[in-house]
Amino acid sequence: MTTEKVRCLIIGSGPAGYTAAIYASRANLSPVLYEGIQPGGQLTTTTEVENFPGYPQGITGPEMMEDLKKQAERFGADLRIGIATKTDLSKSPYKVTIDDEKVIETDALIIATGATAKYLGLEDEKKYAGMGVSACATCDGFFYRKKNVAVVGGGDTACEEALYLSGLAKQVYLIVRKPFLRASKVMQERVLSASNITVLFEHNTLGLFGENGVEGVHLIKRKGETDEEKVDIAVDGFFLAIGHTPNSEIFKPWIETDEVGYIKVQPGTPKTNLEGVFAAGDVADPHYRQAITAAGTGCMAAIEAERYLMNKK
Ligand code: NDP
Repeated sequence: MTTEKVRCLIIGSGPAGYTAAIYASRANLSPVLYEGIQPGGQLTTTTEVENFPGYPQGITGPEMMEDLKKQAERFGADLRIGIATKTDLSKSPYKVTIDDEKVIETDALIIATGATAKYLGLEDEKKYAGMGVSACATCDGFFYRKKNVAVVGGGDTACEEALYLSGLAKQVYLIVRKPFLRASKVMQERVLSASNITVLFEHNTLGLFGENGVEGVHLIKRKGETDEEKVDIAVDGFFLAIGHTPNSEIFKPWIETDEVGYIKVQPGTPKTNLEGVFAAGDVADPHYRQAITAAGTGCMAAIEAERYLMNKK
């Protein structure tokens, strides 16, 4: 296995990773960034981003990430394809294995690995993987033009996915386990006023059915109540939008996380329990999880890395 020594290693290529790369390269830290499993991060799977300051007309997620990437490249950040597969953070310099074949030793480490979409945990999700089950409407919505689809979840992601799909599909069912939506008011209003979105409140998914792919969903309405009722709906696509799991697994032996797996940082800073290791973006943020907050913490992580490296000299 080859070993390479760098001053500042950034793992992840969402708004947090790229912003950290912009700041770290402008501070002459010669950062190396590995893009990870999903280059560009979660925003590459969203449609319109309307709430990132500086884009009065909105911008698509993939375009915004391309802009951030170009900005990081402009200042000389070394952006590489590769996935961090193992870490040894027992002492500095910290060791991160990439693709199980190369070890990067680094003085400062910025973890910006983001979070991954959650599934319900049903056997049928695996059975119909790639055959009608998806966690990304923007990626797969195209296949369901003029068809019927279901989206699970009641948050902003679910509403966004349902709205996106409503522009393609004939009918969208939004399966919500509570009697209300958790999404922001503006998203709720858009969903509730869309003519081809039906919100199924107080419904839970029991399973999926279909011969050669998803043909429908088995639902249970008002589970556990006296008027509990089983309902089937006919759909060709089943989209999950029920939140995310932080991608912190490979750091857990060394880095403190909360019970869900979000990396713990010192309040108001990107500092983890290890000196010289910083966390930015969704991997350390159970509360806000916005592109702009991720970019902000990416900036903070790079500034802290610079200070750490300066003091270490
Ligand atoms: P959230 O955690 O906000 O919502 C998850 C939703 O999925 C909830 O309605 C939850 O139900 C439901 N859910 C969770 N587990 C299950 C389950 N096992 N079965 C059925 N339903 C389930 O996640 P989001 O991804 O929607 O949003 C994350 C953050 O990102 C939020 O802060 C959100 O505001 C933000 N966001 C902002 C956007 C924007 O501003 N453009 C776009 C997308 C996200 P319950 O309510 O019952 O817990």
